[in-house]
Amino acid sequence: AIDVRDLHKQFGDNEVLKGIDFHIDNGQVVCVIGPSGSGKSTLLRCVNMLETPTKGQIFVEGEEITDPDADVDRLRSRIGMVFQQFNLFPHMTVLRNLCIAQEKVKGRSRAEAVEVARRNLAKVGLAERESAYPAHLSGGQQQRVAIARSLSMDPDMMLFDEPTSALDPELVGDVLAVMKDLASEGMTMMVVTHEIGFAREVGDKLVFMDDGVIVEEGDPRQVLANPQHERTQAFLSKVL
Ligand code: ATP
Ligand code: MG
Repeated sequence: AIDVRDLHKQFGDNEVLKGIDFHIDNGQVVCVIGPSGSGKSTLLRCVNMLETPTKGQIFVEGEEITDPDADVDRLRSRIGMVFQQFNLFPHMTVLRNLCIAQEKVKGRSRAEAVEVARRNLAKVGLAERESAYPAHLSGGQQQRVAIARSLSMDPDMMLFDEPTSALDPELVGDVLAVMKDLASEGMTMMVVTHEIGFAREVGDKLVFMDDGVIVEEGDPRQVLANPQHERTQAFLSKVL
């Protein structure tokens, strides 16, 4: 579970998050939508302390990750993150990409890392491509490799920041299907996305952010069909 309380983040004079409160239960999928610059990525990056909040608290499974004495590395290791850019190592095969952090960070043996990697490659439908180099894969395949790499670290929850935004339209579906499988297996997920269909179908909760605040949140079907706030209505009228 993730608990965010009165989260603020300021870059210089620019207050980007202006008091965010929300909760994600274990097994829940929360989708976050909102205009460019509204603070979605900053919020996600604060949740695993890639950005240090200016004010407020974040709890991961009840432990405060924003506590100055917190073991941030240990808490962060429970949270997988997938970005718009896949950030695979270009000079390593798919299999090596999945093994390296397992060996270096988790201290797994080569054999154990390979076994975990193969299991996760199979899960994302890429068992046959373990010897390929990233450049020889499509964007959608690279993103599925990035998801498998993240899963190989055994996270309790996964954060996705627009994981399909850099993909050609015909490749988006395969990545969303992998994310949908993950959700149905009970993974706790926070997903910043423009894929309204995914949010409607897979999300347990939809959060609409604008200008550093959560304007509206609730059941995705209700928020999408019947937005309560003018700003949500205006945004949805542009994307739906
Ligand atoms: P998009 O939909 O375009 O990805 P977003 O909702 O993810 O937008 P953020 O990336 O969180 O928005 O950015 C929110 C604001 O914070 C923007 O005004 C951005 O310029 C600013 N910002 C983000 N990161 C930094 C940084 N490292 N230093 C200074 N300003 C930043
Ligand atoms: Mg962003």
